[in-house]
This record gives sequence, C-alpha cells and structure tokens, in this order.
Amino acid sequence: MEILEKVTKKIQNKQDVNQQEFDEVIDLYCKNKVSDEEFLPFVQAIYYFGINDKELYFLTNSMQKSGKQLDLSELGQVVDKHSTGGVSDTTTIVVAPICASLGTKMLKLSGKALGFTGGTADKLEMFDGYQTEIEIEKAIELVKQNGACMLTTSKDIAPADKKIYALRDKTGLVDNIPLIASSIMSKKLAGGADIIVIDVKYGNGAFMQTKKDAKRLAKKMKAIGKNGGKVIKNVMTKADQPLGYNIGPRLEAIEAIEILKGKKYNSLLYKACLHLATICVKLDKRISYHKAKKQVKQVLQNGTALNKLKEMVTSQGGKLDLFDADYGEPTLVVKSQKVGKVKKYNTKELGNIANGLCKDSANYGVVTFAKLGCKVDTNTTLFNIYAKDSTIAEITAQKLLECVEIR
Ligand code: URA
Ligand code: CA
Repeated sequence: MEILEKVTKKIQNKQDVNQQEFDEVIDLYCKNKVSDEEFLPFVQAIYYFGINDKELYFLTNSMQKSGKQLDLSELGQVVDKHSTGGVSDTTTIVVAPICASLGTKMLKLSGKALGFTGGTADKLEMFDGYQTEIEIEKAIELVKQNGACMLTTSKDIAPADKKIYALRDKTGLVDNIPLIASSIMSKKLAGGADIIVIDVKYGNGAFMQTKKDAKRLAKKMKAIGKNGGKVIKNVMTKADQPLGYNIGPRLEAIEAIEILKGKKYNSLLYKACLHLATICVKLDKRISYHKAKKQVKQVLQNGTALNKLKEMVTSQGGKLDLFDADYGEPTLVVKSQKVGKVKKYNTKELGNIANGLCKDSANYGVVTFAKLGCKVDTNTTLFNIYAKDSTIAEITAQKLLECVEIR
C-alpha cells in the first residue's frame, strides 16, 4: 500500500519510477490488494502529470507480465495486425487470409463487443459454429496448418489492462495517449508476434480526433514495441466516415467476403486491406512494397485468399453458408431528404446507432451507401436498415439522418 502512495507521489513530482516499482503497484491491483478508490490516484497521476518514455515501457511491461505471455517461437516469425478501432473496419478478416496465402504467418487475437466499433470476434462468430474461444495450443496448430488463425483475446492476456481499462472507463480517464499506448501494447507484447502492424485511426470515428494526436500515440507505441524487441509499423488511417459500407457483425462479415471475391474494388475498405496486407507481407519477407503489393493482388484476384478464409473458417468449426448469403430485405430504406453533397458524418454516433441494433441480433445493422463527397438527391438511398421491426427502424432512420450533413 505504501508503495502505491510513494509511486503516485513520484509521478506527481516527475521523479523516475523504476520497473520494480511499477511491477509492485500493478501486482497489488491485479491481486485485489488495493481497491479501485485506492488505485485511482495512480492512474490520475499518469493522466494529469504524464510519464517519460522509459517509464511508459516499464508500466507496459508490468501490465504485459500480469498474465499469460504467448510463446510463438515454434512458428518462427509471426506477424500481428492491430487497429486502434474504427467503424465498419473489417480489415482483419481480409488481411489474415491474404497473409496466410502468401506464407506470412498471423495469429490474431481479437476483441468482442467493443462499443461503437464492434469486435472482430463478433464478426467471426457469424460463420455459424465458428469457435473464437480456443486454446492457444490449438491456435498454434492452426497457424501451422493454415498459415493464420483468428481467435478472441483470452482473459489471461494482460489482465491488468482489463482492470485498469474498466477503471479508466468508469472514471473518464480513457482519453489519454500514454494510457492508451500502454493498454494496446501490453496486449500486443503478450500476444507473442514479432512484427506488429498498427492501424492508427484518426478523425471523428476514432479515439484520436486529429492526425497530430494519432501521430503522438503512434510514436509512443512504436517506442514501447522497440523496447520490447518488436518490429512496429504504424499506418495512419483517416476515420471520418465508415471504412466499409456495412455496419454490424453479419453485414461486415459479408462485406469482407465480397472484398475477397473481388467485388468493391476501389472502395476504401479494399484499399485499406490491400495496403495493410502489403505492409505485413513486405515486412515479413523483407521485400519491396511494390513486390509485396503485386503478390497480395494476385492472391486476392485469383481466389486463393477467399479459399484460404474458407479453410480457416472450416478448421475452426464454422459453416460456409455466409459465403453465398445475400443481404436479405432491409426493414427500411432511407433516402436523402436533401440535395447536395455529403459533407460530414458523425461517425462515432453512426457506429453506436448501427451497432446498437445488434443488441437484438448480430444479424441486424446498417448498410451505408454514400461516401463523403458523394452527390445525393431525394432519390438517393443513404441507408438500408436491418432491424427487429419497423418501429425500431423508423426511430433509427431519424437518428441516422442526424449523423449525416448534406449541403
Ligand atoms: N484500445 C485499447 O485497447 N485500449 C485503449 O485504452 C484504447 C483503445
Ligand atoms: Ca516468433
């Protein structure tokens, strides 16, 4: 207990905190030897006074060591890809099978129910029967067999982050670069990959509102990763509108399949997948961006990556129905009420509304049609709503229209 007060004071007074001190403090909290109220001043001290880069690494390291640390050495070099969170971001389900097709190994731990963004694990579970909660030993076997495996983050990975995040969430301390950086990187370092590609989002659909802040976060994460002996590559992506068109686990899984089937070329989602997969392959194989991109395009266009996803889904107990599924009839089609151009989306709110429908069923959600800059008139469909009933759909339509600015 004394150590907690001592370390908190040190942070407030800008005195250096060492690894052992962070270890002790994190350990006290993880073992429930101090309460949330007692621990809160420590988090607040970081939030308000900051910590230097060395301390940030120590803190992250303490959090990383709080749980299981995956040993993937038997797989050789492994690549991980992480997004700091975006609406309609289905890149993982496209990038993992592309990488696997090209021999770039990927073991991807994904979250569930992440609020306005939805979690990749929720989308994977739309393949009827797909097991996201598998043992790590099984996941390693599946990477050996298929080249990649997507599963849900185990509760044993960086449990300190789970506790600290919950406390930050309930006390309004989420929005802070060192705290976000340590949260993300503690999980990434424990995840065992050698090369980590981080898609850092900025804009009104992201944690970081401005590119400047996103760059600051990226820099901190890179420094932590380097200290942890990893290769970190940050990719900056603007997130001021949904990345794909579809929002909601089922609809997003369908859109990922469409990308792998070669549909929606030139969409933002396609371009993001192409770029992220290219970087993963480039770093893994140590080849030029140009060469990697050519290989990525090839497995996308000749159906290899699509078949790879089918293999991966089957291996994890999932059925392949979704590969031929259609969208079904929308509950409500929402047309534009104005003539003009789409100027702005309130992206976070859009994500909240669409993912909110999925509380009734993961089959529900929203398909968007008009990207920023699109010309629209009163015949243009802006949204297809999939909801439990028409009353909910009507209410949702009004809310969605408030999220888009047309001038
Ligand atoms: N994502 C995380 O994992 N942690 C944060 O603190 C913010 C985003
Ligand atoms: Ca390795």
